[in-house]
Amino acid sequence: MASTASTSVWWIRRDFRLADNPALRSALDDGAVLPLFVLDPALLSGARSARRAWLAVALRALDEDLRAGGGPGLSVLRGKPWNVVPRVASDARASRVHIAADFGPYGSRRDARVAEALAGEGRELTRTGSPYAVAPGTLTNKSGQPYRVFTPFHRSWLDHGVHDPAPAVRASSADWLAAEDRVDLPETDPDLVDLAGEKAARARWRRWLGRDSEGVSDYPKLHDVPGADATSHLSIALRWGHLHPRTVPQDLATKRSEGARALARQVAWRDFFADVLWANPTATTEPIHAEYATMAVEEPGDSATAARHLRAWQQGRTGFPFVDAGMRQLRAEGWMHNRVRMVVASFLIKDLHIGWWHGADWFMQHLRDGDIAQNQLNWQWVAGCGTDAAPYFRVFNPISQGEKFDPDGRYIRRYVTELAQAPDEHLHRPWETPDGVPAGYLEPIVDHAAERKEALERYQAIKS
Ligand SMILES: Cc1cc2nc3c(=O)[nH]c(=O)nc-3n(C[C@H](O)[C@H](O)[C@H](O)COP(=O)(O)OP(=O)(O)OC[C@H]3O[C@@H](n4cnc5c(N)ncnc54)[C@H](O)[C@@H]3O)c2cc1C
Repeated sequence: MASTASTSVWWIRRDFRLADNPALRSALDDGAVLPLFVLDPALLSGARSARRAWLAVALRALDEDLRAGGGPGLSVLRGKPWNVVPRVASDARASRVHIAADFGPYGSRRDARVAEALAGEGRELTRTGSPYAVAPGTLTNKSGQPYRVFTPFHRSWLDHGVHDPAPAVRASSADWLAAEDRVDLPETDPDLVDLAGEKAARARWRRWLGRDSEGVSDYPKLHDVPGADATSHLSIALRWGHLHPRTVPQDLATKRSEGARALARQVAWRDFFADVLWANPTATTEPIHAEYATMAVEEPGDSATAARHLRAWQQGRTGFPFVDAGMRQLRAEGWMHNRVRMVVASFLIKDLHIGWWHGADWFMQHLRDGDIAQNQLNWQWVAGCGTDAAPYFRVFNPISQGEKFDPDGRYIRRYVTELAQAPDEHLHRPWETPDGVPAGYLEPIVDHAAERKEALERYQAIKS
């Protein structure tokens, strides 16, 4: 391994980009930089093929961007970060390891452990910037407490504004190092290679921003219509840090349209949920409103019916076309439209009475944008047990949601191919087709009206 008088390690976790990267900028200020990614078994074990596949192409794209400057590329090592990072820093004779701050429960604990191990050898873990437009802990209410409700958080978020981007980094103008014991990059899925990485994310965002229709100007009108597929698809790029989230409000600032305001507001939701999790670290598994922990649920481990229902939901075979389309989109694309995420989550919790954490777990395994704060707190929002939650008694109707948001059935037909030829009038209620449910499709696994009543009774039981 090469070493210079002044070297540092840039430890990448979810900031796979060279532009607007304060931690990288700060590393370069130290001199030569060793870009490091650690394949951490604790994080890999919860990710199924969708997230692992994205990780592989994200690593490849960053490696190529680094090599474009003539350097040795990214060093990928396998192991527990508190063992690997100090060893690499020591081999490189780096005095500092630079990171973007992680505010999640596992990330904070891991970083504290790495910082301690480094400090034992006289080295420092330096946090610069974060994966958020406004970092958790920055905004507080008049009493100095974290916000629990989105609307005042959003007002404060708008007043605070975002920092200017960090100066751009050109790979060719830096001095890069590599670890001698780095491992090969994971195998990549050829279908994903062109989609991942900073350049692809930036190009996609620019294209969407520049569209005359079904882009930002149509966002307020079309963002809830999954068949139009008119949302930005930024979530994956933001999850992996191919783009810094502040790029979004910055690029939208000049637009001053209703669509621009609506989209920037969604990025504030992302910051809000990160802030809520930072203030309530047990919310990954525990309801924020403690009384919900006593709500009666069907446990798939104890009940054959609940296990069958959970499987049907996971496989997109509930007999409710809008729900099944969403669950099949998730498995096919590692992504699902937000409106449908809300409907399938409500169906699991309020029609099947299965605990939200089972759904959150499935989502985390299959979403390419799977993010512990966004996922768990959106699940808690739907379940009604989060800070700023939808009331529990608001139960999404899986049929009328489809009729309202997929009126022409474009979305359902795309994913539930058994219904591709179904007549419009029966698409959302195939069990009412005069000749019976179309071949290959199935009868609904539950009666929504009855299960809605049951859900409300369970809710009343914890409220009284
Ligand atoms: C049950 C459930 C689970 C979810 N799990 C995740 C997750 O693991 N990761 C994730 O990034 N999002 C999650 N979301 C939020 C939302 O569904 C996705 O961010 C959105 O669908 C991504 O598509 P988009 O980028 O086209 O969104 P757009 O509508 O174009 O919005 C732009 C950006 O705003 C942010 N945003 C939008 N809606 C939300 C929201 N409800 N909460 C927080 N941020 C939001 C995202 O970063 C998104 O990329 C979840 C929502 C639900 C209901």
